[in-house]
Amino acid sequence: MSIQIFGMPVSRGVAIGRAVLVASSRVDVAHYFVSAEQAEQECARLDSAHLAVTQEIDSLKRELPSDAPHELAAVLDVHLMLLHDVHLVEAAKTWIVDRHYNAEWALSAQLEVLARQFDEMEDVYLRERKADVEQVVERLLREMTDSAGLAAQRAAMARPARDFAGEDPLVLVAGDLAPSDMMQFKRSVFTGFVTDVGGRTSHTAIVARSLDIPAVVGAREASRLVRQDDWVVIDGDAGVIVVNPSPIVLEEYRFRQRQSELERARLDRLRHTPAITLDGQPVELQANIELPGDGAGALEAGAVGVGLFRSEFLFMNRNGDLPGEDEQFEAYREAVLALRGLPVTIRTVDVGADKRLDRMSAQELRHEHGLNPALGLRAIRWSLAEPGMFRQQLRAILRASAYGRVRILFPMVAHLGEIRLIFEALARARQALDEAGKAYGQVEVGAMIEIPAAAIIIDRFLEHFDFVSIGTNDLIQYTLAIDRADETVAHLYDPWHPAVLRLLNHTISVAVRAHRSVSVCGEMAGDPAFTELLLAMGLRCFSMHPARIPAIKQRVLRADTRALADCLPEVLGAPNPEQAMAQVASVLQAR
Ligand code: PEP
Ligand code: MG
Repeated sequence: MSIQIFGMPVSRGVAIGRAVLVASSRVDVAHYFVSAEQAEQECARLDSAHLAVTQEIDSLKRELPSDAPHELAAVLDVHLMLLHDVHLVEAAKTWIVDRHYNAEWALSAQLEVLARQFDEMEDVYLRERKADVEQVVERLLREMTDSAGLAAQRAAMARPARDFAGEDPLVLVAGDLAPSDMMQFKRSVFTGFVTDVGGRTSHTAIVARSLDIPAVVGAREASRLVRQDDWVVIDGDAGVIVVNPSPIVLEEYRFRQRQSELERARLDRLRHTPAITLDGQPVELQANIELPGDGAGALEAGAVGVGLFRSEFLFMNRNGDLPGEDEQFEAYREAVLALRGLPVTIRTVDVGADKRLDRMSAQELRHEHGLNPALGLRAIRWSLAEPGMFRQQLRAILRASAYGRVRILFPMVAHLGEIRLIFEALARARQALDEAGKAYGQVEVGAMIEIPAAAIIIDRFLEHFDFVSIGTNDLIQYTLAIDRADETVAHLYDPWHPAVLRLLNHTISVAVRAHRSVSVCGEMAGDPAFTELLLAMGLRCFSMHPARIPAIKQRVLRADTRALADCLPEVLGAPNPEQAMAQVASVLQAR
């Protein structure tokens, strides 16, 4: 039966493929494809985990004290019985052999199949055995993820997945994917993504967008309604998912898919055209990247620099083992060298909120502990609370500046006291490098303007920083008090809100008057709906996912900043988001 599911569009285009369901397990499960030769080895890993867990439960049972409640022994018996059931480990092997999944992924995929079967059982006792299956699978996963498993995972994830995947295109359907999980899929074969939770500018959505494949988030029930291997259409323009589409619907989407590929090819021809408006204003279009390896892609897309390197992604997926100074230095240098003399803006680590280093997701923190991590120890607050780690990162960034043009960007600064601490830390990092005789170059120092307090006192910030970059994702979140990762309030997250537009205009115009460099690196920079408006405010530097550059360049090439600037007072004076949007639309139509 064909069904439609609605969510929020985060990345454009149409993807059609077979669903791969990814369960949100408490154990960090890596998902990667293995070759036919490696399949045997993966099955053997599953067998040895199976043996180890069986022995562990056997010995637990043997060592039960004589006065232990008999339910305990019964539970262990159930676990042993499940372990030996062919529908678990043996069935998981078919995912390895037929679909080339790694052992952990195969096991969690099989758990997903079994969990559904248990959910559909009439008998309450049997239905509740689902929890036992989950516990057994968790034990097996832990056994595999310990020790050697992790090293194997890292090596395997570095290999191009496309070599191993099967014939049909695959789309990923997940409940809650942390941004760090999403990073695992950077080199993956997936042609589209769907998640149950998340808002349009949640970091999971941002990473999905950087993959430049159609994606829908906040689709609430998707991971429950879609089954492994279902055919799924992801309409990333409308935020719709069609499960098991009819042949007519499928043909319609295939047509749209071809159209958007043609449009993309047409825009790609603009890659090396300089971005200059009709009235001769040059505009810099820079790239947002997450990993040093993204640098080359940024250049290829026509970026004239990296406006935002989200360094926190180097700190994720590492089971608590944070990168040291040398490892960070190598990563930053790689990006700097890839950009061949163009500026690279490295943002110091911005963890916290929905980007967590541990396994607890922002959703769990919110729902289980009632905490709002977006207002907590995040970004510069976390760095200042970990001064050793902070200075280590600063030293690594400074050392990379000996190899090209580096700018350091500090996230979420709001207090002048924080600015003082930042500069003290920078001075100490430079001093340590001098003492160690390590080379470093000149760096420009900038602040992200993403808390309303910083936007309001932008004049004060400009006394200290060489440049500022406006993080509209957070600026909107904090201005409108909307958790950007929470799909239940996503309808209130509105970049067109006049308060947001006024803060943006204030920040840009004060910086321009002070002759200080100002850019926007939030998602608004890569959204063509705002290009003309931001130009009218005086913005001449935009930073976005490389894939967005051609579309924004097209808008820049067709824009006349003088005509737009005339309508700015009316847009900023609009009483509501709808009228602000209508004002901009009417000027654009009149051209
Ligand atoms: C922003 O807040 O707009 C931004 C660019 O930073 P991040 O999305 O990483 O919080
Ligand atoms: Mg931010």
